Amino acid sequence: MLKVDNLHVAYDGIQALRGVRLEVPRGSLVALIGANGAGKSTLLRAIAGLLQPRAGRIEFEGRAIQGRPAHRIAREGLVLVPEGRRMFPNLTVEENLKMGGFARSEADVRRAEVEVLELFPRLRERRRQLGGTLSGGEQQMLALGRALMARPRLLMIDEPSLGLAPKIVLQVFDALRRIHAGGLTLLLIEQNARLALQNSDHAYVLETGEIALEGPSRSLIEDPRVREAYLGA
Ligand code: ATP
Repeated sequence: MLKVDNLHVAYDGIQALRGVRLEVPRGSLVALIGANGAGKSTLLRAIAGLLQPRAGRIEFEGRAIQGRPAHRIAREGLVLVPEGRRMFPNLTVEENLKMGGFARSEADVRRAEVEVLELFPRLRERRRQLGGTLSGGEQQMLALGRALMARPRLLMIDEPSLGLAPKIVLQVFDALRRIHAGGLTLLLIEQNARLALQNSDHAYVLETGEIALEGPSRSLIEDPRVREAYLGA
């Protein structure tokens, strides 16, 4: 569904991604793990059209999308949940959700909102509250809900566990599993490598801008290199 080939991205001459290759098959949950600064966010931002690659190809459902503006890519069904949630703190939960459906018809937005509030009953309870007053876990749910309002076919999620208590992280991952079970293809980046590998089908390990390892998550979790570098074993 998504194919990244030989992707190079630089910030003012600093090479952040070097020849990255990655594939996300339809219906899969693919994880990307790696240390701080390895280039994980850069990769998602480049796929989403927020950064222009220096070289390489990004194909979504068979069409080249590199160089297209971010809003066009989102409209085509490839949506990013950014690191740090980035919801609108001065808008209510309901308004935040509506922003996610900006490219959809009113009827479609109403239907999507019903589904999102079913998936996240907590957001229903808080729907008239300002986004900025929610807890970290609720904000992550809102960021996911807002992205779902755009009716994505592939959802990319940047560090959903960031800054959340362990119990809340489990709730967020439970929500991700339900979203995936509903048929959505997911590409997830996550510092918590164990959680990412336990919850994905296939995974890639990014090290200083290059893919160092890849394979079924089940095998990577047993791989001595992964265990030593990322699982503290
Ligand atoms: P983290 O988990 O800390 O977000 P990451 O794996 O997502 O790490 P990136 O944020 O993609 O890593 O950063 C990759 C490299 O690019 C790092 O060396 C980082 O310092 C650099 N970098 C990221 N954003 C910028 C920027 N806007 N300008 C210059 N350099 C940047």
